Amino acid sequence: AHTIAEANDITSLQGVIADVISTTREMRATTERSRAEVDSMRDRVRAAEAEIERLQIELEQTSEKMRHDPLTGALNRKGLEESYAKEVSRATRRGTKLCLAVLDIDNFKRLNDTYGHNTGDEALLHLVGTVRDCLRPHDTLSRYGGEEFVILLPETEIDDAVIVLQRLQRELTKRYFLANNEKLLITFSAGVTVVGQEEVQSSAIERADVAMYQAKATGKNRVVIAPLTSLAA
Ligand code: GH3
Ligand code: MG
Ligand code: MG
Repeated sequence: AHTIAEANDITSLQGVIADVISTTREMRATTERSRAEVDSMRDRVRAAEAEIERLQIELEQTSEKMRHDPLTGALNRKGLEESYAKEVSRATRRGTKLCLAVLDIDNFKRLNDTYGHNTGDEALLHLVGTVRDCLRPHDTLSRYGGEEFVILLPETEIDDAVIVLQRLQRELTKRYFLANNEKLLITFSAGVTVVGQEEVQSSAIERADVAMYQAKATGKNRVVIAPLTSLAA
């Protein structure tokens, strides 16, 4: 602007105009380069976002796997611990009853010894499938050990918990388990208890376990209620 103001004829303006044109071209080239850079950066951001999403899904799937037993798909001990902690605090907060049952398949060693380990595995799947079909959506089934399971029944009175378990036992007598075309009856013994307010998991399981052993000792294929201690009241 200064040079133009100082110019006294057209000839002296020509140099300025040439400069302006050249500068404008450079600016346009710079702008185009910047736009290309922005485009490429945007692509990289999109790719990074897609990768983050993929990793998040993978992380969720991995932590899902960490909570489940690979054979039966029931919760494993870690899954049970999380579920128990959630349910016991919910029950305490809302003043509702949470029941816990320990189930142990009867004479499972004999089934394994007679029909083989694979058939034993299939029997576990049969039990888990039947339990799943009988429980309400917010009840949870966990595989606690080899042929031992824990069921959590939120918002359930002890008498109703017994009814649920007996219904499960009846259902197992209706749904035969087929081992080499042979109809087998899978039965379990169970101990069930009301979980006390803020009670730790091990103490509730221990109480239900004692009752489960009473069910074994008194003929198997039975449900025994664990007597309420002052802790669990
Ligand atoms: P009870 O009625 O007193 O419970 O007798 P049981 O034979 O069921 O109990 P025991 O504890 O003697 O045997 C449990 C058997 O469960 C022994 C073990 O080989 C079997 N088992 C544990 N986990 C698995 C598994 O993942 N697959 C198979 N097929 N068998 C298993
Ligand atoms: Mg056992
Ligand atoms: Mg057993």
